[in-house]
Amino acid sequence: MERLFAADEKDIRSAYTTDVYFERTRKILLSKGLEKTEVWAEFTLGSLPNNWKWAVLCGTEEVLRLANGMEIDIFGVPEGTIFTSRTQKGIRVPLMNIHGRYTEFGEMETAMLGMLCHPSGVATAAARVRCAAKDKRIMAFGNRRMHPAVSGVLDRSAYIGGCDDVASKIGADIIGKEAVGTVPHSLMLMMGSDEAAFRAFDETIEKTVPRIMLIDTFSDEREASINACSIIKDLKGVRLDTPSSRRGSLKEIIQEVRWELDSKGFGSVEIIASGGLNENSIRELMGSGVSGFGVGSSISNAPTLDISMDLVCKNGSSISKKGKFGGRKYTYRCSHCLSMDVSLSDSDRIKCSCGSEMEVFEIQLMRSGKRVYKEEPSEIRKYVLSQLRQLGEL
Ligand SMILES: [Zn+2]
Repeated sequence: MERLFAADEKDIRSAYTTDVYFERTRKILLSKGLEKTEVWAEFTLGSLPNNWKWAVLCGTEEVLRLANGMEIDIFGVPEGTIFTSRTQKGIRVPLMNIHGRYTEFGEMETAMLGMLCHPSGVATAAARVRCAAKDKRIMAFGNRRMHPAVSGVLDRSAYIGGCDDVASKIGADIIGKEAVGTVPHSLMLMMGSDEAAFRAFDETIEKTVPRIMLIDTFSDEREASINACSIIKDLKGVRLDTPSSRRGSLKEIIQEVRWELDSKGFGSVEIIASGGLNENSIRELMGSGVSGFGVGSSISNAPTLDISMDLVCKNGSSISKKGKFGGRKYTYRCSHCLSMDVSLSDSDRIKCSCGSEMEVFEIQLMRSGKRVYKEEPSEIRKYVLSQLRQLGEL
């Protein structure tokens, strides 16, 4: 069989996926006897895309898995931290710092950045959808818009950002939950009618799987939803994925279906909406009687964050390229308003503009190639949600 284009774990760990100039740099440093040169490398972000005011850091866990065994120390803000790219004075906020011989980790710059940039964009988009959906259920359905090689990464990031559930089995395994799904249009088409598909699903699929039936394939959504209720005794919900060409106002269709369900005694049956939803359209649907959302592209196609890695210290001396500030820096954060600041010292007394005292906001993540930080995805997600509440976004 011909190999797929996706890189596998071996390709990534062996630097087969890295930009070739890092490989050449390593070769030059080794040939010039500079393999022992110690550096501090800093991970920062210049600006946020889409006029976002904050972002969620995601992907730290995978960086630690990649760095396992490298003779380096890693410090940084915990995964799930909501951050601004710069302080109020305009200084880039260090999200992660690596200390060690450059030749020990330099070749992995491409992989490490990719593991942070893409997941952080996805987690941030998910967090924004969470802020729009408030306490409604959000299922991440966006894997089909991206390469399957990153399904697990996408689902983990969407979950950490605030989605409740994910659709892929690999993603569900990574976050320690069951994969969720409703019914695809293809089942309705293959079975020939809504009713036949409802019956076949109910007869075939184990009872532990919640029954959420699609009601927009052939007939009117109201009629199909009542049909589903009468055929499936323990129907959990109905899903509307009505195409935009037939939609008119999705909010009004949902209101109508809600009314119909309630008036026929099916008040506990939930309505799930899906189909091209984003944070704005979700906001418009709130209050319509909708119980949850299946969200795809607007989360999985999130803009990647341009986090970069820069050398800021070499053999104990400050160094930096033009446009970057040299020196090993410490990130501070106000526990009251979550504002961030930066200092070259870890023992500064920094007063936040809100009046509170800031504290050093950095933990050691890895010591000599061994991780000293481990957090479950569910805990990271809780941490994200608690910060969103603290910021008044949720
Ligand atoms: Zn403050």
